[in-house]
Amino acid sequence: MTATALPIVFFLMIFLCMASSLAFLVLLAIWLYRDAKLHGQDPVLWVLICIFASPIIALIFYLAFGRKQTMLPCQSCQQPIPHTAQYCEHCGAANSQYGQPLPRRKMNGLLKGAIATGAVSLLSVVFMFVALFAFAMNAGGGSQMAGSASVPIRGASFTVNSGWALVSAENHSEGVWNFSLSKSSNGYHMDSTFTLDDPNSRTLMASADCTGGPLLLNISQDGQLVESIDLSRAETQPVAIPLDGCTAGPVDLQLTNEGATDISGSIWVE
Ligand SMILES: [Zn+2]
Repeated sequence: MTATALPIVFFLMIFLCMASSLAFLVLLAIWLYRDAKLHGQDPVLWVLICIFASPIIALIFYLAFGRKQTMLPCQSCQQPIPHTAQYCEHCGAANSQYGQPLPRRKMNGLLKGAIATGAVSLLSVVFMFVALFAFAMNAGGGSQMAGSASVPIRGASFTVNSGWALVSAENHSEGVWNFSLSKSSNGYHMDSTFTLDDPNSRTLMASADCTGGPLLLNISQDGQLVESIDLSRAETQPVAIPLDGCTAGPVDLQLTNEGATDISGSIWVE
């Protein structure tokens, strides 16, 4: 997953969570209304609890306390009467189902739907936090400047250095070449490479902070130097280096220190 996809996933999950929560609320309210009526409970009261307290609380309390008595239609007047009643309280007819075991009812489709949408809602919350976490990790671990580069810069396969360097660090994170070097002998270099797809639309971006100089960025192809830029003059503002002098294909970058100290910076392709 790339850094740009994560906010999209995050907002999709917010939308999914809101939609499924609403569906859960509506389905559960309808089911509660019907089921409460069937069990001789006040259906409006349960719907109000569902909406104003919480659908989860309403469901738990309803299943625990609301379904004690089942109402069945009286055989003679069709009014709902308690399953346990010996006589109908409306017309006085004997309850033909009195004393018989209740037919075991299957789980209502509405309740199934409500549980499914509730599960989707919970899952989307989980994924939302996963996306948020991944986004935070990406933002923290990536480069400070460039986000994700479409043409990644890689480490060179091998470099031969004569001389010495103190506290030198490099990484290629999200296609961006980040480097730092506190002190080194003159001529010490760090190397990277990337594959140029379109010389006319691509720009090499370099930001570097250092004391003294020069700090040379040498751009070469097939062993031939194309351009050399002194990054010690760039300071905090990134410099844009057009790549129209290159041809499509591998481009080698060499950062050569000729007297700069406390170097830190990033190079990427836009
Ligand atoms: Zn009756």
